Amino acid sequence: MKVEAAVIGAFGQPFEVKPLDLATPNDDEILVRLVAVGICHSDVACQHGAFAPPLPIVLGHEGAGIVEQVGANITHVKRGDHVVLSYASCGGCARCELGQPQYCSEFGVRNFKGFRSNGEPSFRQGEGDDAADVWGGFFGQSSFATFALSTARNTVKVARHHYLEAMGPLGCGLQTGAGTVLNTLKPQPGDSIVIFGVGTVGMAAMMAAVASDCGVVVAVDVHDGRLALARELGATHAIRGDAPDLMQQLRAILPAGASFTVDTSGKAPSIRAAIDLLAQCGTCAVLAVAPGTEVTFMPSMLLAGRRVIGVTEGDADPQEFIPRMIALHEAGRFPYDRLIKFYALAEINEAIADMRSGATIKPILRMQH
Ligand SMILES: [Zn+2]
Ligand SMILES: [Zn+2]
Repeated sequence: MKVEAAVIGAFGQPFEVKPLDLATPNDDEILVRLVAVGICHSDVACQHGAFAPPLPIVLGHEGAGIVEQVGANITHVKRGDHVVLSYASCGGCARCELGQPQYCSEFGVRNFKGFRSNGEPSFRQGEGDDAADVWGGFFGQSSFATFALSTARNTVKVARHHYLEAMGPLGCGLQTGAGTVLNTLKPQPGDSIVIFGVGTVGMAAMMAAVASDCGVVVAVDVHDGRLALARELGATHAIRGDAPDLMQQLRAILPAGASFTVDTSGKAPSIRAAIDLLAQCGTCAVLAVAPGTEVTFMPSMLLAGRRVIGVTEGDADPQEFIPRMIALHEAGRFPYDRLIKFYALAEINEAIADMRSGATIKPILRMQH
C-alpha cells in the first residue's frame, strides 16, 4: 500500500518525507494506521549513525494509532482498536521469560537492525527498474509514516476514549523516565531525588518522583524553560546544570546526599556528579550514554551501600506499564501533556531542531490521512 514516510538516506542528513510502498502484513504482524508519533532522542542518534541501522531507513518508535488489519496469528487486538507501539522483544529468551523484555537477548537486532519480523525490509521506493528497498522494523514499528507494521509484543491496546494522538511517547521516552522511578528505584514518601537533564525522560522521572511523594525533588538542566516547567510540575528545586557552583548548591539542599539520582544527560561530568551526590545506600540510575563515554569515580564510595545501575526502557513491560501511566495521567498525577508540542509529519526536521534547542521538550508529529 502507498504511505507517506520520513526517510533517512545518509547519516547526518535531514529526513526526507516521500511516498513509499509498505509491504502487506504477514501472519505475525499488525498494520497500524498511525495517528501520531513522538520523536525520541534515539531517533536523532540513529539519524547521525548510532546503532548503525541499514540505509535508507524509516525511523520512528513512539507510534500511536488505530489497527487497520491483523495477521492470522494476532489475537490480542483487532481492526479498529486503539494502540500505542513500544519496543520489540522476542518473547522466548531467558529475560523475556522472566518478564524482563527490556533486556531481551535480541533487543538490538529487533529494534535497530531495520528488518521486519520475517527478516525483510518493510518498504519500497520508486517505480519499475528504479524501485529499491527501504528498511523498516525500527523498534518493531518504523512509525515516522502514515502506516506501520508492528508485532504482537510491542502493540499495546488502550481504551478508545483516550487522547490517542498524545499517547505515542508512552511507548518509549515517558516509559523510560517514569519506569526508572516507579519500577527500579521505587522511592518511599519523603525520599530525595536529583534528576540530571529534564527533557522528556527526565521530566517523566521527575513527575513519577512527585507522584511517589518524594520530599526533595531537584531538577538540573541547562535550559531555563525546562527548569521553570519542572518547578510548575512539582520539583522542589531547579538548578542550572552549567552553574560553576552546581555541587555546592546541591550539597546545600541535600547535606547528607540524595537517596536517588537519575542521569538522563549521558554526559560524563553529570554522571560523576550523580554518583558523588549519593547518600549512604543511595542509588544512581544511568539511562543514556553516548558511545565511548567514560566516567571515573572512587569505587570505595560504593562500600557504603551505594549502587550505580543502568536502566533500559524504565524496566517496564509495555503491556503492563503503559496502562499504568495512563491511569496515573487520568488521576492528574502524571501531566505529561504539558511537555508536548504538535507538528505535521512534513515538519519533522523543524521539530527535531526545536527538540535539540530546548524550545520543545516532546515534539509529536500528527499524521494526515
Ligand atoms: Zn527475548
Ligand atoms: Zn526512544
